[in-house]
Order: sequence, then structure tokens, then C-alpha cells
Amino acid sequence: MPKPLTDKKTSFRKTLIHWYDANARDLPWRRSPSLYKTVVSEFMLQQTQVKTALPYFAAWLEAYPDFATLAAASEEQVLKSWEGLGYYSRARNLHKLAREIAEIPAPDLPTDAKSWLSFPGVGPYAAAAICSIAFNAPSAVIDGNVVRILARLTADEQAYKNSTDAAKSYRGLADALLNRQRPGDHNQAMMELGATVCLKKKPNCLLCPVRELCQGYARGIAERLPALAKTSFESKTVERAWVNGPAGILLHRIPDSAKRMRGLHELPELGELGLEPTRDKALLERKRGITRYRITERFHRFAPEQLPDQLPVNYLWASPEQVQKLPFSGPHRRWIEELMKLD
Ligand code: SF4
Repeated sequence: MPKPLTDKKTSFRKTLIHWYDANARDLPWRRSPSLYKTVVSEFMLQQTQVKTALPYFAAWLEAYPDFATLAAASEEQVLKSWEGLGYYSRARNLHKLAREIAEIPAPDLPTDAKSWLSFPGVGPYAAAAICSIAFNAPSAVIDGNVVRILARLTADEQAYKNSTDAAKSYRGLADALLNRQRPGDHNQAMMELGATVCLKKKPNCLLCPVRELCQGYARGIAERLPALAKTSFESKTVERAWVNGPAGILLHRIPDSAKRMRGLHELPELGELGLEPTRDKALLERKRGITRYRITERFHRFAPEQLPDQLPVNYLWASPEQVQKLPFSGPHRRWIEELMKLD
């Protein structure tokens, strides 16, 4: 169990908020903040770094300035705007959430984290972040950044299975440390400290505002905390078809029943088309990582005549102009561009 930081909580809270007031980055969702900007930024920042999210946030606000405009957009438009940002369920959930919120009169909007958990795509982290920032609700955020800071502050060497397991152990301490006068700023300060100072690999302890309170630093063990078990990776290969004929490029629209990437387009896998990998070297081979998988994607060229007479449902031909307009994941977009150059 993490140690409770007895008699240092007030000092931690004050030092952290002073540091944040002087050092907070000037980020677009912090300028004239609103509930909408907070919600969009929290969705974008799940699994995505600030520098990657910045151009998307600007374009998003331009296309969808409020919940009502977002609610009125089609899912295809929304996925297209999210293209390249990854984890597309975030875009679909944000869209659904906008549709729900657009129906609720402003005075009836819930302001506490527990109620926000019932909105699409809002987990405990997002609920606490949104409600503390937008409504000043006293809910502490806890994620990998916060776990790292707290494990180091308390020099907690206990081994955890993963970050989720560690987060459960730190819930009590995160709540006890929360600045109840300024919960939103406190939460943002914790995230800021984790993102800019208490870094995963090389914490900048010499620049850290809470160094004097940090037991991990004092004992010289901060860098190896938290003690999380190593993730085990699984390798797999996906064989895909590149068919560029007179009718266009053959694509597969990922059906609404799929677990991931619903509504996006991709280059088709061979199996459903009854095709076998070509004996020659694949036309293109690329590697990528998704969660715990290390995937090799291999693309084989086929002529339209090699396809079954009747294509299964969800397959379509798209001209290069149509390809520009359809939503794809970032990697699929890049691979199509590379394959077109090889043709
Ligand atoms: Fe992190 Fe170092 Fe600050 Fe401790 S002193 S909280 S390890 S940056």
C-alpha cells in the first residue's frame, strides 16, 4: 500500500498549485474555457499526446464549434475529422455524447462525476476531469501520470500488475491530496507535472516543485517507480489485398457490428475474398503496434479478375478522389498512398 504522506498534504497541495499558476502551458482548451472545449480536449487527450492533439483540436472547433453542431453532423463526417488520431471509438462516443447533451436544457446538465459516468465514452478519469474543470466538482483524476507521481512521492516499491491495478491502490491518496478549492486546476497541475517534469523515463527532479516532499527522489529510486509488471506482446500477421482496377481501389467498410474501427474503411483482408497470399514477396510490408499486439501488415497485388464474381457485403470500389473523402485510420491512409506510388 502507498504510504499516506502524513503531514505533507497541505504543503504538497500549495506547492503544486503555485507551480501550476506560474508554469501552466498555454493550451487552447484553457483559453476562455467552456464545457464543450473541456469535453473535446479530454476525449482527444485519452491515449494521445498534447502536441498530436493540438492541430486536431483547432480543426475540430472550426468544424464543430459547439455540442449542437457536432450533434447535427453525420458519423462519417465525424470519423473523417478524427482521421489519423486513432482509437476511433472516442470519436463515435463524443458524437453520441454531443447528441445526448444537445437534448438536455443547460440548467439540467449534471455536474458531478458519478452522473457523467452514464454518458457515452466517459470513464472515471474523464468524468473526474470534466466535472472538476468545468464545474469545480471535488473529484480527483487518477491515471498513469498520477500513479507515477504518487508512487515516486511515497517511494512505493510494491509490484503492481498494471497501471489500473496501481490506480485502485492510489485512489485514497489522490482524493486526500485534492485541492478542494480548485479541484480542476489541481487535476490539471498533476497532469502537467506528469507530462512535463515527472517523466516516465527521466524525471526532471531538479526542476520539480515538490522535490523536497518526494521520498522516491530522497532515496534515489524515483526513476524505477512505479514497479509495474512488464507487458507481454503477441505477434500476428495480417494479409491484405491491393486491387486497383478500372472501377477504382477495392475497399472494405468495417461494419457497425465490429468491435473496433466501425465505419472506417480499410484495404480488405484476403480471407473473406477467398484469396491466398501471393507466392512472390508481398508488394508492401509494414509493422505496427496496437495495444499488446505487434502486427505485420502484408499487402499483395491482385487483378479484379481474381476476385469472386459476387463481392461480400461492405466491399466497395472507390476512385482516388473518393478515397480522399472517405474515413480511414491514419496507417491505412498512409499505406494506400504508398501502394498507389508502387502501382
Ligand atoms: Fe517526480 Fe522527481 Fe518530482 Fe519526485 S522529485 S515527483 S520523482 S520529478
